[in-house]
Amino acid sequence: MNKSRNLFKDGMTPLVKSTSRPKWQRLPRCEVFYYKSPVHQNHYVLSFAFGFDKEDEVYQFALTFPYSYSKMQAYLNAVELKFPETFERSSLGMSIQNRKLELITFDDVKKPEKMDPKNVIHMVVILARIHPGESPASYVVQGLIEFLAAANQPISKALREHVVFKIVPMLNPDGVFLGNNRCNVIGHDLNRSWNKLSQYTHPTLSAVMKMLKEYDNSSCYQVDFVIDIHAHSSLTGTFIYGSTYDNVYRYERHLVFPKLFATKCEDFCQEHMMFNADDRKSGTARRNFVEALSDNVNTYTLEVSMCGYLLNGTNILTQYTEDGYMRIGRNLARTFLEYYRFTNILPIPPVDELRPRKGGRPRTHRPRARSKTRSEVRVRPKTTRAYAPISYTDLSICYDSATSEDGSPVRYMYGHGNAGYGGLRMRPHIHQDQFSLSNIQAARFSNLDFTSDFRLKIPKAKGTVQEPKMPPIEMLNVPPKPHLTIIDFNQLTRGGLEEATSGKTIEREKEKIRRHTFKSSSRKA
Ligand SMILES: [Zn+2]
Repeated sequence: MNKSRNLFKDGMTPLVKSTSRPKWQRLPRCEVFYYKSPVHQNHYVLSFAFGFDKEDEVYQFALTFPYSYSKMQAYLNAVELKFPETFERSSLGMSIQNRKLELITFDDVKKPEKMDPKNVIHMVVILARIHPGESPASYVVQGLIEFLAAANQPISKALREHVVFKIVPMLNPDGVFLGNNRCNVIGHDLNRSWNKLSQYTHPTLSAVMKMLKEYDNSSCYQVDFVIDIHAHSSLTGTFIYGSTYDNVYRYERHLVFPKLFATKCEDFCQEHMMFNADDRKSGTARRNFVEALSDNVNTYTLEVSMCGYLLNGTNILTQYTEDGYMRIGRNLARTFLEYYRFTNILPIPPVDELRPRKGGRPRTHRPRARSKTRSEVRVRPKTTRAYAPISYTDLSICYDSATSEDGSPVRYMYGHGNAGYGGLRMRPHIHQDQFSLSNIQAARFSNLDFTSDFRLKIPKAKGTVQEPKMPPIEMLNVPPKPHLTIIDFNQLTRGGLEEATSGKTIEREKEKIRRHTFKSSSRKA
């Protein structure tokens, strides 16, 4: 509360719930005030107006959605019962006050018969709630656990079968139980203690470090990621903190995951992302693991705002809900899927699976029978081939035909009769008319005017008095012809993209060849 930069300035408001209204709700913004108060030695003060409307009710207020130690225990019990075959729960150790340090494992990886460096098992480690006050981190973890535990979900199945996930959902169970904001029971900020671990004062961290080192040193496993999840009290959106490396290639590898994650989250905030090697933060997991673990391990701090995120470059603040935080966890899993597909550890699925499924099956010429394998992930041989899917769904042009009798199964009463809402006639879009078959036919007789209604352009046979009745329009989606541009990459630095693609280069090359052949032929002569 002593910081000048605070989310209450951006429109965050406290949460409230009561006995008869058990769902957390944000207070209205107009009733909440955050200001510097001369009465309180110029400290910042939060005050809000609230009417206690029922006498026997118990009211509770919170900064963000709480997530207690017992809530986590109840949740893990429920998941354990629901997904016994995918979900594995164990205890990694005990806290100072003898609370369990839970460890969740998702591991359906078939162990290779012979171990060699090419056959290592990839591992992702997720840590959360080292700062007990940052409860949104627990919702993110819950979203991730739910996603990975789903037995029949093809994405989670593929992930579980190729990568081992180790999740420590609550690194500081004592602090959470006691309601601390940042510290454990003896007042240590655990995320400043990774560089001075002691079994007596930091038993939970020591247990996690022991596990990490064991896997990191093993020849069977390769720890790819350690992601430490936090919640931020003064910035909006979701963002990642990483480390800097002197080795350029190492640094580039470190940037890949945040970039992929940014493409998966609409709430990702690029401006708040930070990569540094700050000495003040040397006790954090992110900074300490760079030295403590091997070079393969990428450690990040994933921060989610305690309040909300700004909608796509606007100033409109959307407040996070519990499900909003869980969605971040699901997006995290999707990012792992993409990462491991890019690195050829996960098989690349058939094109059908990659296509967005909004609005049902895309209308194409392809017969239905070919999509049988959609839900399966085909195992493909490991190659370095890059995958570049061409999606026709967004590029498709509607050819609307007034006369075609090709027996296409797709037939729409579009723009005729009483289709539409309340007898309103729906007009076909102009861009569809431009490519209509009638227009193309009309072009044989007259100059085609794309801007006007094509129906006026159809020449009438002499003697006909009545307007011919229009049959229903059929719509087919025909993929456009691929357009090929030759780019000479040698030219890119010299003359820019325009020159490289203008064709001058190709002409120049042809000229060179011509001159060369002329010289050699004259020499012969
Ligand atoms: Zn934190």
